[in-house]
Amino acid sequence: MAEEKATAKTSVLLEETRIFEAPKDLAENSNVMKWMKEKGFKTEREMRLWCSANYIQFWGEMAKTYADWFEPWSSTLEWKPPYAKWFVGGKCNVTHNCVDRHAQGAKKDKVAYIFVPEPTDQPTQKITYAQLEKEVNKFANGLKSLGVVKGDRVMLYMPMIPQLPIAMLAIAKIGAIHCIVFSGFSSGGLNSRIMDAEAKVVITVDGFYRRGKPLPLKPNVDEATANTPSVKNVVVCKRTGVAVPMKEGKDIWWDDLVAGKSDACECEKMDSEDRLFILYTSGTTGKPKGIEHVHGGYQVGPAQTLHWVFDVKDNDVWWCTADIGWITGHSYIVYGPLVLGATSIMYEGSPDFPDLGRWYKIIQDNKVSVFYTAPTAVRMLMKAGDSWAKKYDVSSLRLLGSVGEPINPEAWMWYRNTFGAGKLPIMDTWWQTETGTFLVSPLPITPLKPGSATFPLPGFNIDVLDEEANPVPLGSGGNIVSNTPWPSMLRAFYRDPERYQKEYWSTYWDIRPGTYLAGDKAMKDKDGYFFIQGRIDDVLKIAGHRISNAEVESALVSHPKVAEAAVIGKPDEVKGEVIVAFVILRTGQEETEELKKELAKHVRTVLGPVAYPETVLFVKDVPKTRSGKIMRRVIKAKALGKPTGDLSALANPDAVDAIPLI
Ligand code: ATP
Ligand code: MG
Repeated sequence: MAEEKATAKTSVLLEETRIFEAPKDLAENSNVMKWMKEKGFKTEREMRLWCSANYIQFWGEMAKTYADWFEPWSSTLEWKPPYAKWFVGGKCNVTHNCVDRHAQGAKKDKVAYIFVPEPTDQPTQKITYAQLEKEVNKFANGLKSLGVVKGDRVMLYMPMIPQLPIAMLAIAKIGAIHCIVFSGFSSGGLNSRIMDAEAKVVITVDGFYRRGKPLPLKPNVDEATANTPSVKNVVVCKRTGVAVPMKEGKDIWWDDLVAGKSDACECEKMDSEDRLFILYTSGTTGKPKGIEHVHGGYQVGPAQTLHWVFDVKDNDVWWCTADIGWITGHSYIVYGPLVLGATSIMYEGSPDFPDLGRWYKIIQDNKVSVFYTAPTAVRMLMKAGDSWAKKYDVSSLRLLGSVGEPINPEAWMWYRNTFGAGKLPIMDTWWQTETGTFLVSPLPITPLKPGSATFPLPGFNIDVLDEEANPVPLGSGGNIVSNTPWPSMLRAFYRDPERYQKEYWSTYWDIRPGTYLAGDKAMKDKDGYFFIQGRIDDVLKIAGHRISNAEVESALVSHPKVAEAAVIGKPDEVKGEVIVAFVILRTGQEETEELKKELAKHVRTVLGPVAYPETVLFVKDVPKTRSGKIMRRVIKAKALGKPTGDLSALANPDAVDAIPLI
């Protein structure tokens, strides 16, 4: 054992020596560089440090830059840990900043959304800011006619169609609170969220397309609202024309609701701290939490980070591939891009319909310039090889991004080479539903290391602490925390203050009250680069060593035959835990016993003997959340023959069934 410890590498990521500088013209002409020059900052480091040290002043300036206010605030921040109020006394409405001011100004004819339907025989639709304003206003007036007032919760259960952001913006405009449930959830998942939020109205569609075929969705809402007294009406948008039952007095078609309604509607003047939405987290680790965000602070973060990190400019075509049902879609398909007055792609369907070339084709046809996706999608495309990419011209791209999980260095390189012609920077953005916006991320001027989210962004004070709240030295790991509040942070859990206090603030309360515990682990390398290791609960404890699942999975994915991997710890009397790896091979590779041995050896070569997987198993798929994150807690429970717990967030039940007992 002692020998093993002596030879163990705790991390190979920390030995990353490849550094990729941003292309010079990109860095020089970036939005962030422009700001730095105006302010007289000489280096990125100097700028990051100043903004973080002076975070209140910094965010005050950003709030004025990116949003218009009906009335100014009297104090930028009131911080009574763990409760923050930003822009106190300010009056605003996020829909004014997203729609009205553009529609009534120079951007009225600019395209807000390029909507790409999933069926290939349906044309792409362009929606300008002026059109968006009219649609939002009509729907806002429709909601008013149903008796929806400020503070009411309205549930949205819809696929990726323009009526979804239209409804969100309309709800916000009249001061109600939207609560989106991803349309892939079952009626049970929808029901529990409707009950928790006590929603007055549910908005849905007749049906949606899956792989080009129309399927009904409305019946799920009927099931979910059978026993929910709070729900007065269900508004149904016609997307596919599939026949669905409509209940007299309760259900109403979207078109009938807006018919004859005025296309003018005043914004409700909201207090900065008034709630904008509740969003239930993706539920990777258990019961979903209703996270509350507000009008004033929330609108600043996504717009500012989209402008600085993704460098979005007036002539860019921005594409974030997330579903609007997740925070990534809220912040980077709806609020961030619209506050900036940008043009976004909104794609209705799956990446592999009608084939794996679909995303490349959308990029080519619409000249997408900035592209943001998730590691799970990158690995899926990587699994199929380069041939699809070669059929299309994606040279309109100038910047790439990643979110959702640690991106394995191998996948990072493949993404850069395939989408980025071997030269485009990848913005690996680390953040959470709770944070509303990116916290740790490169800027387009930052020298990159594959697999690293690089540094805390300007205006944030993010650190990595040990159990006693000491910042860890360079070259080691611990818990990611934020030492200071930020405008787009969550304000609470809906009707559950205790859980809010316990989950984020209790760990370091006695030592340093007001320290936000994110729930993830990270390491800092010798240069201070952050490498996100995954969730605290997923970290493996092997023979006294703490090894991150992300590290072992990346070692496996670095083998040329592997597309994806999930590792878990199996209890072991001697070592505490031993590693069991579930591996998905690249297309065309054969599952053999020799390959299992080869992969285990490969991990040992890369990471050292401590990380040697005792068992390697081949699977076709691993359980994932509907947002594409590997659910290790479910794999572990199933493999160990234990109850699998709350599965409402699970996307692929078959993958759970296929996990063998170990
Ligand atoms: P729940 O909290 O209910 O289990 P969730 O954490 O999956 O759900 P999200 O808020 O959508 O819900 O996901 C945030 C988490 O995703 C982060 O805490 C982190 O674990 C992971 N994550 C997001 N972006 C990155 C990234 N760039 N690198 C590494 N991990 C990331
Ligand atoms: Mg989480």
